[in-house]
Amino acid sequence: MAHEAAATKKAVTMPTIELTDLTRDEIETALRDLGVEPYRAGQLFQWIYQRGVVDFASMTNLSQDVRRTLAEHFHISTLAIARHDTSEDGTEKFLLLLRDGRHVESVFIPDAGSRTFCVSTQVGCAMGCTFCLTATMGLGRNLSPGEIVGQVRVLAAAVALGGKAFNVVLMGMGEPLHNYDQTMAALRILCDKAGCALPPRRITLSTVGLVPAIERLATEPLMPNLAISLHAASEDVRIRLVPSARKYSITEILAACRRFPLKHRDRITFEYVLLAGVNDSDTEARKLAKLLRGLRAKVNLIPLNPAAGIPFQRPSDDRVNQFGRILSEHHVAVTVRKSRGRDIRAACGQLAIEGGRKSPAQSLGDAI
Ligand code: SAH
Repeated sequence: MAHEAAATKKAVTMPTIELTDLTRDEIETALRDLGVEPYRAGQLFQWIYQRGVVDFASMTNLSQDVRRTLAEHFHISTLAIARHDTSEDGTEKFLLLLRDGRHVESVFIPDAGSRTFCVSTQVGCAMGCTFCLTATMGLGRNLSPGEIVGQVRVLAAAVALGGKAFNVVLMGMGEPLHNYDQTMAALRILCDKAGCALPPRRITLSTVGLVPAIERLATEPLMPNLAISLHAASEDVRIRLVPSARKYSITEILAACRRFPLKHRDRITFEYVLLAGVNDSDTEARKLAKLLRGLRAKVNLIPLNPAAGIPFQRPSDDRVNQFGRILSEHHVAVTVRKSRGRDIRAACGQLAIEGGRKSPAQSLGDAI
């Protein structure tokens, strides 16, 4: 009994609030409730996001009393690197351990003069796209804001980013708009002037096309770049590839895109995974060009990154080029995405956890 009482007492006095899940406004409110000056939230942001200090005792511009109060009520978690692979092309893939023992993957993509972090928003994904390896895991769970931002924090330190500018693409595991609130809170934390101060134009949110969430995003004060995973110009082809297409048609998605507020020079990116003999015909290219007419769009062609268990083939380079040529002849801006990190399975659609604890959905995915 005595033992039980001690355990209960311990549970009550454990710091329960995860500080990295809170925006600066939320920290201010929490501090006010504790009788600590709210402006200390800005100092906490500087320590965590600018200087990488996560131990309250080392936050020397806070009084001993404040440091003690913070340590009693807050906890600062940092994702642990469980595995780190570097590709021949310089791409680095990280397997990160979450507090509950699950894992996510994040990728660092250095390119001529630019640095991009590709981060996950969920463990696994519920969208079920038939060409994507992450889909075979099913959805494990949503990531919290701190777990999303934490990927940038850990990777930036691991690659010794220093103060260099970087981009963030929400193109890792998961569907960001299926974890809307936590993803948006993460973006508010990343863009906060007292922390990473990431300009929103350096963030790209990629979505499978969840129309109500796109409409909601259109009303946000903090606006990332938008990328839509279209993958087809015909509804019947898209339904074969993207299950959510049954709910939201190409027509509805493009209508939402036409309404989406864009700044003077911004464009919406349409991602198009090319699958041999499925969506890579001249007819489909012409249809796509027609659909995008009048939209401030650019198309990013992604030749399929094949994987065992994915029932599609990558088209030939000639086919990819021909598809791109048709689009540009129709005055559609088009780029072909370079596949980065394929040798370490860090390329688009290749993120899936192999080791670690597996959910039933994951094990099922392995069996298919
Ligand atoms: N759920 C979001 C973001 C994650 S995926 C979305 O659907 O946009 C990032 C991009 O990689 C998407 O365009 C996705 O369709 C693409 N992708 C998925 N599997 C792929 C594969 N095997 N080869 C190439 N691209 C793939």
